[in-house]
Amino acid sequence: MGPILIVIFIFGAIIGSFLNVVIYRLPREEGWRRQLRSLVSPGSHCTGCERPISWYDNIPLLSYAVLRGKCRHCGERIPRRYPLVEFANAVLYVLAGLAFGLKPELFPALLFISALVAVFFIDMEHYIIPNVIVLPAAAVGLVTMIAIDPGRWLELILAGVISAAFFFLVAIIKPGGMGMGDVKLAGMMGFYLGKSVLVALFLGFLLGALAGLALVITGRKGRKSRVPFGPFLAVGGIVALFAGQYLLDLYLGLFNQGL
Ligand SMILES: [Zn+2]
Repeated sequence: MGPILIVIFIFGAIIGSFLNVVIYRLPREEGWRRQLRSLVSPGSHCTGCERPISWYDNIPLLSYAVLRGKCRHCGERIPRRYPLVEFANAVLYVLAGLAFGLKPELFPALLFISALVAVFFIDMEHYIIPNVIVLPAAAVGLVTMIAIDPGRWLELILAGVISAAFFFLVAIIKPGGMGMGDVKLAGMMGFYLGKSVLVALFLGFLLGALAGLALVITGRKGRKSRVPFGPFLAVGGIVALFAGQYLLDLYLGLFNQGL
C-alpha cells in the first residue's frame, strides 16, 4: 500500500489545488452557469498583478514553499489557505485510502471529502453553501452508494431525507441560525453516511455550541454575531466518515450496559 498512498497523496493535493479555485471563485459568481464557467476560465492568475501563473508556479504545496508564499512578479502574498486546502485534502485522501482500500467505496469517500473541504472554507468566509457543490454531490453520492451496496438503499435515503427535514425544522423554528444551505448539506451527508449521519449531526451541534460559547466568553460575540454552521457540519461529516460506525457502536454499547 505504501507507494499507492504516495500516489493518493499527490492526487489529493492536485484535487486540493482545484478546490482552491472552487473556494475562491464560486462564491464570487451568481447562478450555476456563471459559477461553473468561472472554474475553467480565465486561467489561474495573480490577484495582485493579474499576471497568469505559470505551470511551474502552480504545483500543489511545492510552489507555495518555493515562492515562500509570494507572487513571483509582484510579491503579493498568496493566502495560507492555498497550501492548507491542498494539504488537508491530500491527507484526508490518504486516510480514506487506508480506511477503504482500493475498493469502489473509495470513490464516494473522496468525493464526499472534497465537497466538505470546499463547503468548510466557503461557508466560513462567505456564509453560503453553494448548491452547485452540494446538489450534484448529493445525487452522485446517493447513486454510487446504492450501486455499491444496494441493500442500504432505504437506510441511505431515510438518513438524507430525515437529516434535511430536521434541519428544515430547526431553520423554521430559529430563523437566522440555520439556512437552507445547511438543510441541503445535512441531506447530502445522510446519503453518504447512512445512519452514521447521527454522529456527524451530533458532532456538528456540539462543535457549534462550543464555538458559540467561546465567542461569548472571549467577548467577541458582538463583532461576529453570526457563526456559520456549515464548517462544523463538515467536520462532523469527516469524522463520521471514518469513525461513525465505531462511535455509534460505542454509544449503543454504553447505552445497553446502562440498562
Ligand atoms: Zn502578482
